[in-house]
Amino acid sequence: GKIMGQSKREAAVTTTAVKRVKERKLSREEILAQRQSLPAFAMREKILSTIRENQVVIVIGETGSGKTTQLTQFLAADGYARHGVIACTQPRRVAAMSVAARVSVEMGVKLGEEVGYSIRFENETSEKTIIKYMTDGILLQESLNDPLLDRYSCIIIDEAHERALNTDIILGLLKRVLARRTDLKLIVTSATINANRFSSFFGGSPLLKIEGRTFPVTSNHLLTMPDDHVAASVKQVLSIHLQQAAGDILVFMTGQEDIEATCSILAEKVQAMENAKPLEILPIYSQLPADLQARVFLPATPGARKVIVATNIAETSLTVDGIRYVIDGGLAKIKVYNSRLGVDTFQVVPISQANAAQRAGRAGRTSEGFCYRMYTADAEKNAMFPQTIPEIQRTNLANTMLTLKALNVDEIYDFDFLDPPESSSVSSSLYELWALGALDSEGKLTELGLKLSRFPMDPYMARLIVSGVECNCLDEMLSIVSMMSVPNVFIRSAERAKESDTARERFLVAESDHLTLLNVYSQWLAFGKSDHWATEHFLHSKSLRRAHETRQQLVKLARSSFGIKNVEKAKSLDDVRRCVCSGYFHQAARTKGLQTYQGIRNNVVMKIHPTSALYGLGSLPEYIVYHELILTSQQYMTVVTAVDPEWLLEDGKALYTADEHFVPAIEDSQQKKAQPVFKKSKSSNFRAKKKFMKGV
Ligand code: ADP
Ligand code: MG
Repeated sequence: GKIMGQSKREAAVTTTAVKRVKERKLSREEILAQRQSLPAFAMREKILSTIRENQVVIVIGETGSGKTTQLTQFLAADGYARHGVIACTQPRRVAAMSVAARVSVEMGVKLGEEVGYSIRFENETSEKTIIKYMTDGILLQESLNDPLLDRYSCIIIDEAHERALNTDIILGLLKRVLARRTDLKLIVTSATINANRFSSFFGGSPLLKIEGRTFPVTSNHLLTMPDDHVAASVKQVLSIHLQQAAGDILVFMTGQEDIEATCSILAEKVQAMENAKPLEILPIYSQLPADLQARVFLPATPGARKVIVATNIAETSLTVDGIRYVIDGGLAKIKVYNSRLGVDTFQVVPISQANAAQRAGRAGRTSEGFCYRMYTADAEKNAMFPQTIPEIQRTNLANTMLTLKALNVDEIYDFDFLDPPESSSVSSSLYELWALGALDSEGKLTELGLKLSRFPMDPYMARLIVSGVECNCLDEMLSIVSMMSVPNVFIRSAERAKESDTARERFLVAESDHLTLLNVYSQWLAFGKSDHWATEHFLHSKSLRRAHETRQQLVKLARSSFGIKNVEKAKSLDDVRRCVCSGYFHQAARTKGLQTYQGIRNNVVMKIHPTSALYGLGSLPEYIVYHELILTSQQYMTVVTAVDPEWLLEDGKALYTADEHFVPAIEDSQQKKAQPVFKKSKSSNFRAKKKFMKGV
């Protein structure tokens, strides 16, 4: 079984871990000694003098050499904080938080004061902040209000080699900003791969290499491809643990599910062994609460071995000392735009050869190491790309295009991209924005588009909030959007599967997962935001509290964007569903019977995900909208809401028409093949049958 959520046992482990952090406080001298031993430290003067003489500097170096934690401090000590904040961007939220925490310890200051971080819906900075770690998405959002980024004296674009979408866009924007702000310093950092690209992009800026000491890593491949990468990795961990010399293990997995499965199988197996030494099993992935994430950095208790099971966050953004063995599952979960389905989907794909080399390198930081690759040498050569494809060339660009439009980049093709996106992807994103009403038929930003761009989320989610204002149900929409921005609130306990399922069922609203989320949130409020109540009902109180905080931020944002005074409450839940439709009409499906649906625009056959409130209902609503598609052996829709076809026609007038029939209206290239003919639904049938607020 899988460990889902935080069991009592895990809670106990957390408390001990937190205690240990307190016990083992490093002295100032120890911390200084650690800093001085980093390769970056030896380069300090060279780095600073190069920055003094150049506006843009590219810094490359092995992971763990001190780029992320030290460069900001060097700059601060050299006086750059006097005329502005020193920013350092990260593609990942976890990295921004964790590194800020580390640097605040190194500087001996309270996190959120001199050193802070800003990630979506979480701003730990103050007037005092001179070093600010942030996601690249936040910097992009800030540039909407502050196009020249005047508050910053230096900007470090970190992890540029990852080629995350927002990193690429920010680099393009900065190129314009630098011309107008000659006082601004830009440092682009990259792992050893691809650094020349950045130098030539900025007109041949100097490249500094931080030479680090690395040790040889011996790599082993499998002879045949494994059926199950989780099982193969577990086996490898146990074999190292039982047979090999001391040293910690780092396992690369694709995501939370894999990681939880690996951890729980490992725990079971080790427990069942008679005289195995203790093994400390530590997961890390982006949705893991911050205090649990911090555990991976603690040294293992003497006599025990530590195994960290991580997503590719541990590839370059986080460095854990003491790793001697790396187990590389060879896969990563990435966001890919699926043109057949017309949506972004998360897909598990083979990593690139460059990634594989990075992963192996993690074993050779402090001594000779070993990398066990859970794939064959042949697969590495033939099934892996040499480099990862930049995100800009594989995801939906609607959000990015909207931001660029809001930044007055009218001619997208004039924008200076590091690597330009495919033109078909640009035009389909612009088309989606037009269908949403964010762009007019000349491609200019509309008033609605401007409003949507102000919210730090994709334009469809932002549409829910704007509709909330228009339909007088802002209260509910803010709660729904907030609940959708936090990790899953339902605890699914393997040991108490039945109980947790029953607890969940009590919250289900039969026609809508969005209303179900609203229901959970409202009840939690009604019960005084009680942690006890939440746990008793198998709900993650941490997620609920995060949703609550997110909501408060959104209320502020809505107030400043719309000048509203009161947050209106809906008269009926049907009005709320009506409003939900306005942000999802582009992802609509019609039932085909037998628990299956067919996408109206893409014609793809899909099922309702088993976690949905609509799953297994005797009479399924004829039309639904969905939030996301999960691809496994089948297509599953998650977070589903029943809608009336009239609403789809109203909101999606650009996409659908109805005379006698309900058909997609626009012949864009993707839809030419499939023109399904749907009869208009009698939504009243469904309404009569609905089971509403079941059991609550
Ligand atoms: P780079 O950015 O070049 O990969 P970093 O600046 O992230 O390197 O890391 C430098 C050192 O700081 C590493 O040896 C790492 O172990 C240590 N370090 C970074 N974050 C933490 C943390 N949260 N706790 C303990 N040590 C950390
Ligand atoms: Mg780094």
